[in-house]
Amino acid sequence: MAQHFRHSPEVRDLTITELSRIQDRTAKKWFRQARWPETDGKPYCPQCGTLRCYEMSRERFKCSAKECKAVFTLTLGTAFAWRKLLFKKMLLAIWFTANSVKGKAALQLSRELGIQSKTAWVLLIKLREVVASRREDIVLDGEVEIDGKYAGGHVRPENRAEDRVDRRLKANRSRINRCGVSRRASCCETVA
Ligand SMILES: [Zn+2]
Repeated sequence: MAQHFRHSPEVRDLTITELSRIQDRTAKKWFRQARWPETDGKPYCPQCGTLRCYEMSRERFKCSAKECKAVFTLTLGTAFAWRKLLFKKMLLAIWFTANSVKGKAALQLSRELGIQSKTAWVLLIKLREVVASRREDIVLDGEVEIDGKYAGGHVRPENRAEDRVDRRLKANRSRINRCGVSRRASCCETVA
């Protein structure tokens, strides 16, 4: 049987120990490559598309085209716009979000990254928004497994023994009362 992708070495190509060792300028470089993949991280004007841009102070870029002169940053127009966090910390947050099976708690992330809980909370919401915004474009391929869950089905018995309904009897099974409140079949006409 072929090895599942989750067990392959490819899923371990970036570990938290490796990520914790990188410098912020490396993280920034990765962000640049993700933002401008067509030019391998070289910035181009978001308005006119020219590559003739130069870097200004405070990590801003300016378009050199005479009629444009647009000023932009690496994160402008993305979920990370107007950031104050280091690129490395944002990258670590992405790593934790992607690798946490049951999601990441904001308070936990705040302790791990040394940031305020509100900052962690907002960052996690932004990351979820990014995933949600691209949901329509994501197409799964290969062998896809989905966990299923059936919610409901158990009816808590009444506290008083005399009020309990014997659900072993067929007449008392799988009944949903139209009122949606009472579990007793006698309170209103039953459906299904
Ligand atoms: Zn321009």
